[in-house]
Amino acid sequence: MQADGVVIATGAAARTLPGSAGLAGVHTLRTLDDARALRDELARGGRLVVIGGGFIGAEVASTAYALGLDVTVVEAAPTPLAGPLGETMGALVSALHADHGVRLLCGVGVKGLSGERRVDAVLLEDGRTVPADIVVVGVGARPCVEWLEGSGIALDNGVKCGADGRTSLAGVVAVGDCANWYDPRAGCHRRVEHWTGARERPDAAVATLLAGGAVEPGVPRPPYFWSDQYGVKIQFAGHAAGADSVTIEAGAADDRDILAVYRRAGNPVAVLGMNQPRLFTRWRKQLAATTS
Ligand SMILES: Cc1cc2nc3c(=O)[nH]c(=O)nc-3n(C[C@H](O)[C@H](O)[C@H](O)COP(=O)(O)OP(=O)(O)OC[C@H]3O[C@@H](n4cnc5c(N)ncnc54)[C@H](O)[C@@H]3O)c2cc1C
Repeated sequence: MQADGVVIATGAAARTLPGSAGLAGVHTLRTLDDARALRDELARGGRLVVIGGGFIGAEVASTAYALGLDVTVVEAAPTPLAGPLGETMGALVSALHADHGVRLLCGVGVKGLSGERRVDAVLLEDGRTVPADIVVVGVGARPCVEWLEGSGIALDNGVKCGADGRTSLAGVVAVGDCANWYDPRAGCHRRVEHWTGARERPDAAVATLLAGGAVEPGVPRPPYFWSDQYGVKIQFAGHAAGADSVTIEAGAADDRDILAVYRRAGNPVAVLGMNQPRLFTRWRKQLAATTS
């Protein structure tokens, strides 16, 4: 097909564990078919082990708990969501799991799975074995860009893009989970895997295509995501990495309703809300205004 402009939006695919292919009872969650297959298994009940305490893992654990399953979450980092939220606030997410009797094993990696045709246990790197009837592997996603290898386009953790979505090839832009955009605020490339990024960045990318590269890229809004876990709405905007302090500005950690602000050299760089949607929205706007 001939084209004057091309938009690459091939998204990402769930990462898997080596050796897990073909073992019944082992799931990843990315597509509608994945969700249906997992729903059918969870409906049968039993012991669920979730590998990875990120968004997917925590939301699956929370749903499975509500369905009455016996749930264990294994997370290699010291707390769940330590990357996006930092360890201090990640500890609050740990407490959410504990509040509901979900076992959380942090700071230990998974060595492998056991079972002949069907999984029967998860083997941990410290030698422990966790029995399992169902396993959900929630260890992140990889950008779907293999098909671009050898095409001449620059790849680096996805399609490498400027601050306006342009790639190393003229007339080609990339958006969404497969695109690693330059973030002028942070001075580095960041691949954002959230709906807001996938929805907002195409405006800038299409403007770039239509203008033939003659527009100055604007500064994108700070990335935003939310996650519903055990009835608590977690909302986050900005980047916790690089913050030198985080303080709770409203609410109480014990009540699981807080508004926390991350600062670098006294300036807000990120904001976290737990069951604080109104206050969070105010802070998110303020953050966008002060960091643009
Ligand atoms: C279970 C789950 C829950 C999530 N929850 C949230 C949430 O609460 N909040 C949030 O902000 N984000 C959430 N996300 C992330 C959000 O869904 C993604 O950021 C968003 O879907 C990215 O959009 P996209 O268009 O870049 O990629 P996708 O939605 O992955 O779409 C890419 C499409 O490209 C197709 N494709 C791939 N390769 C090719 C090829 N070579 N040729 C043609 N087509 C191809 C794929 O089949 C797919 O249909 C969640 C993701 C998952 C998996």
